[in-house]
Parts: sequence; structure tokens; C-alpha cells
Amino acid sequence: MKKVILLLVDSLMPNILEDCMREKTVPALQFLKDRGRYWPNCVTVFPTMTASVDSSLVTGVYPNVHRIPGLIWYNPEEKAIINYLNGWKCVIKLGLSACAQNVLYNLNEKQLSKKVTTLFEELECRGKTSASINAIVHRGSKKHCVQLPFLIKLATGFRFRGDISGPDVLTLGAMVQTNLKQKIPLNIQGYRRRFGINDKYAVNVAKQLIESNFQPDFMLVYLPDNDHEIHKKGPTYAGESLIKVDQRIQEILNVFGSWDDALNQCVFIVTSDHGQTHIGKEKEFNIDLDKLLEPFRVLQLGEDVSVHDLVVCNNERMAYIYPLKPDKQQQIMQQLLLDSRIDLIAWKEDRGVSVREGGSGRKVYFEPGGSNIDIYGTAWNITGEWATLDVKVDEGIIHYGDYPDVLSRLYGALYSQDIPVIVVTARPRYEFKSRHYPVHLNGGSHGSLHKYDSLIPLIVAGTEYPVNEPPRLVDLKEYIIKLFETGKK
Ligand SMILES: [Zn+2]
Repeated sequence: MKKVILLLVDSLMPNILEDCMREKTVPALQFLKDRGRYWPNCVTVFPTMTASVDSSLVTGVYPNVHRIPGLIWYNPEEKAIINYLNGWKCVIKLGLSACAQNVLYNLNEKQLSKKVTTLFEELECRGKTSASINAIVHRGSKKHCVQLPFLIKLATGFRFRGDISGPDVLTLGAMVQTNLKQKIPLNIQGYRRRFGINDKYAVNVAKQLIESNFQPDFMLVYLPDNDHEIHKKGPTYAGESLIKVDQRIQEILNVFGSWDDALNQCVFIVTSDHGQTHIGKEKEFNIDLDKLLEPFRVLQLGEDVSVHDLVVCNNERMAYIYPLKPDKQQQIMQQLLLDSRIDLIAWKEDRGVSVREGGSGRKVYFEPGGSNIDIYGTAWNITGEWATLDVKVDEGIIHYGDYPDVLSRLYGALYSQDIPVIVVTARPRYEFKSRHYPVHLNGGSHGSLHKYDSLIPLIVAGTEYPVNEPPRLVDLKEYIIKLFETGKK
């Protein structure tokens, strides 16, 4: 049975990948595509943010089941905003301790639902070994020790006691390094960049595991650098950054005798967590939620919750708005509807979801069940103006347009928590602005339901085993388990 390597390239977009292939600048990705199969229309999870997406990748379910709502969300039990690290301003406001505690420990050990299994747990049940290299969702049955670099300890006073769980091999940069019986020396250059959460570090770990014959049956390698570059420069320059990613992938392929050998020994899966949208240059392209919601008392990062009307959790091109007082929800919605830069405003109603379009006020309602089946085989009942979500029926099947898989994905986000919440998304070229959160004028941003943020490429090479079509990121867990169960080459 072949081993499986899943390369998760942050903010990899199908159109950029295809442009680079035409220009012949990405030989490794080209090789894997030519020798395997390629889909430009794989759909990721909503919100299109790494925390919610990776949770779905690893558990194979949407946020309504795995219960990680997004990168930033409000926890009513703790009366606190949960942030898995989104920029230094947020971190300074909440304290690095709180953010680090959330991303290092709480996400995997407390917040990710215990009712779901992770890919790592499933593989272990089948006697397979696995590695998670720098990915933030990694729950498994092995315990790993966190060793915070001296500089973090010094700068923050943060102490972390106890272990975190993971598969056989786990790295989170310099903070957590593999728990193999036979320790692999990690003579890594570029160690200080984001404390080892970077492409160079991840690829070096992967290479050493392969070279030293410790390559586990399954290996998830998370490559984040592309995301940072595109946030700064915008998707127009994404080709340059993809060339660098490709060079890293070449390094992995080169460890095998030849690239052909790599495919003889391993299945390679390349995909992403989300795309990005170009944000306009001028200030108006930032939708200032503090200003728009000025008539209400908005809880800001680091404040006490008691006297506030609502909490805003800004996930770049989407935001969760939590009305803390039930009588305020209608007023908040009316206020949001006034801004035509807001694309969709959605909330839970009955057992389904109501959606209105910002500006025009167009309305649609949908709920699970009913006689309409979508292209993924899920049944829905839809009433109102279907065009609000760019949804159409063709020969009895629901097809999606600008918002891929929108019904399951929007439902999944709204029902990730049992409290009242409003979801807003920004139109293309716009993103939300809130005090202390990073913005990206003339750069790139993501988070929304729109296809620019939501479509990711999928390459599968080294196996003929059929992929469910059209592909979705949420279905990859099952696919990988099947690869091992059937022993297909
Ligand atoms: Zn990002």
C-alpha cells in the first residue's frame, strides 16, 4: 500500500495555478497534475478561514457538526471572544496568552466536538501511522509536549503546562516537535520566522521524515507562506508566490530517487483551504462595522460583556454578529441592510436559514429536507427569491453559481452554535473593518461565501481511486480513509 502525502497550500487558487502552468513556472505541480487528476472546482468550507476549514478537512463535517465556527467567534459560556491568532493587533488586545492557549490547546482539546472523529484518529484505528506538520487542527491519541521558545516566554510571560494531542508525529513549528521514538534531528534554517510556522520548516520536517525512513502512512503538510504574500500584494501577484511554493514541493519530490519514484511510492494530494479576493485601494472598500453599528453598544476586544448590545467577530470578508439582547436583533438587521457593500445577511429562522441581500433587500429562505436535491445529493426546501443566492434548478437538480455549495455551507456556519447570530458577507473587492483587526486595502482577503474565496484546486496523483464529483474539501477525509481501506494504488 502506498503512503499518502497531503499538501495543504494556503490561499492556492485554480486560476492562478492554471496561469502558472501555462507559463510553465510550476514544474512540480504541473508534474502532479499531468500524472494525476485535476479539478479546478473543489469547494471549501464557510467561513473561508483556516480554522473552520482545517477543522472540516480533518473531521469531514461542516461547522454545525464539528463546532468550530471560524477563526474568530464569541463563546457565550466564557463570555469571551475566541481568537485563533489573527494579526498582532488582535493578539496584543486579547493577550498572546489567551490566543496561544486557544490555538495550541483549546481548539483541539476543548472546542472541537468530541462527537466527531479526526482523520488521524480514524487512521490509528486502522493501524496506520500519521503526521500533522504545522496544521492547527491535529487531535489524535498521542500526547505531545509543548515547548515554547524562550523568546515567546520572555515577551509574554506565557507559560503552557500540560500536553496537547496529535497523531504519531506532530509539529507546530518550534513550539511542538514530533514525538517519534527515535528523535529526528531538526537542523532547520529559518527557524525564527513565525517560530517555524513557515513553508521552509514544514518541508524540512517532511523531507527528514522521508529520508530517515520514518515517513508515516499519512502525512499532512501545511504550507502557509502563500497566504501571507497574497494578503500583502493581492491575488494579482499570486503567481510569484506560487513559484516559491512549487520549489518547496520540488524539494519533497527530489527526496525520492526520481519524481516517478515519488509517485510509485506515494499518493500526492494537493489542495488549499480557501482562495482570496482582491480588495480595492480606497478606504470605502473597508466596511467599517464599528461605524455602521454605531447606534448600538458593540463589545470590543478585551472589554467586559455586561453592558453591550452585540458582539462583532470579524473574519475578514465575513463577520459573525451576536445580538446579546433578543429585542435588538431586528434593529441590527435593519441597520445592516442599509449598506449595499454588504452582500448577504443571514440568520437562523425556524429550522432553516433566512437570507437578505444588502442594499436591495431581496429575500430567500431555505431549510434541510424537501424535494430539491443539489449537485452534492443534499435535499433542500427553498422559498423566496432564489437569485439572492444565485441558485438555479436544472432538470430537477439544484446548481450553484457565484456561491458554491452555499446552502450546506451557510447552514453549517449558522448552526455551529446554539445562540442567536447573524452572518454578514462582503461583496467582492470589499472586506469588513473593526477596531484592532487587520485590513488589506489593495491586497487580498477572504472569509466569504463567494466563489473567489471558496473555489480551490484539487490534484490527486498516484492513485486511480475515484473522487466524488464535483469535489469538496469536506469529503477528503472519507476519501483518504477509503484509500487505505481498499489498499488501492
Ligand atoms: Zn489568510
